[in-house]
Amino acid sequence: MQIPINSERLATWQQQFAEFGKTAAGGITRLALSDADKSARDLFVQLTEQLGCTISIDAAGNIFARLRGSDSSLAPVLVGSHGDSQPQGGRFDGMYGVLAGLEALYSIKEQHTTTLRDIVLVMWTGEEGSRFAPSMLGSGVFTGKFALDEVLAKTDANGIIFADEAKRIGYAGNGSIADYQIHASLEIHIEQGPILETENIPIGVVNKAMGQKWYEITLTGMAAHAGTTPLDFRRDALLGFAKATTAINQIGQKHGNDARATVGKTNVQPNSSNVVASQVTFSVEFRHPSQTALEDMDNELRTSFANIAAQNNLQLNIKELFSFAPIDFNEHVLDIIRQTTAELGYQQQDIISGAGHDSCYLNEITKTAMIFIPCKDGISHNELEDITDEWATIGAHVLTNCLNKLANEN
Ligand SMILES: [Zn+2]
Repeated sequence: MQIPINSERLATWQQQFAEFGKTAAGGITRLALSDADKSARDLFVQLTEQLGCTISIDAAGNIFARLRGSDSSLAPVLVGSHGDSQPQGGRFDGMYGVLAGLEALYSIKEQHTTTLRDIVLVMWTGEEGSRFAPSMLGSGVFTGKFALDEVLAKTDANGIIFADEAKRIGYAGNGSIADYQIHASLEIHIEQGPILETENIPIGVVNKAMGQKWYEITLTGMAAHAGTTPLDFRRDALLGFAKATTAINQIGQKHGNDARATVGKTNVQPNSSNVVASQVTFSVEFRHPSQTALEDMDNELRTSFANIAAQNNLQLNIKELFSFAPIDFNEHVLDIIRQTTAELGYQQQDIISGAGHDSCYLNEITKTAMIFIPCKDGISHNELEDITDEWATIGAHVLTNCLNKLANEN
């Protein structure tokens, strides 16, 4: 049985939710637990209650809307994504996944049959990490990755506490964290990259997520007068930084198309145009779907930075901030996505996620997989982020029918 969806309804919801935190340039700024986040949450609760879902909110502010199946004693199927955005971010990152899930629930209910298992639609708190770091806080608490107390005590750049904000907007729940088993978990998300659109494929079957390693590097030399200090006498931290940045790019190039190597943030001391830089602190992050490749990249970073420091008479400090192993999503759920996409007559291809997602944590506690739809010009974390109605519809259609299958599994 194929379940149709209502693409006009989905498009209307997308427009409605894009109002919450709307920016002049057509994007949204909807930081976790902000007033704009509250507005999106309120409408989410209203729409799911209208459908007959029961709502529970846990202490991390995650919202769970449960649509009853015929046997609620069985483990439910989870579907959803996050409701927060980056500052000046896009309308679809996260929210599309929540609304496609909402559309799936409405469409399934309109069939006038119930699924065997309950379906729980979740809106995760603070996936982006842009207000309260790190990212994936809500799903991290739910899956036991982070201690609840630590997350509740997090502060934003203004010193405002997570727990206080959750309470202020009315979403500090008392529902318990992960007190039930989950049969399987699905998330649909925009690709946030250019591959699907370039290949003209509407459905990406996300079989892996890249592992990541994040570092904070400090190169320390000595401040000196830019006019009186000959080049050979300098201990120029900024020169070392320039070589190090080039080395990071070369390491990335060496490990193929799936490698990512980025220096994105830097702090120069004393940051004056006529003083040789005494110290540069900068970020490095590597991503790769292979753990072996990540470890090789780590070794290469250490060797090349040690050489650069020695050659430029600098002191080197490498601090590894965190490391995240590559993820293989669940074959059974992937097969359901592939089979359903084929039955509905859409083109598909396997794709690797370069970004972290709530599903990366869920994968540790239940059978999990993700679906990607294309986004225009691969642009995301940007106000220009956009998708077509056709991509939105195809994605929700596939998601709905996958969910229906998973929720009817014995
Ligand atoms: Zn996202």
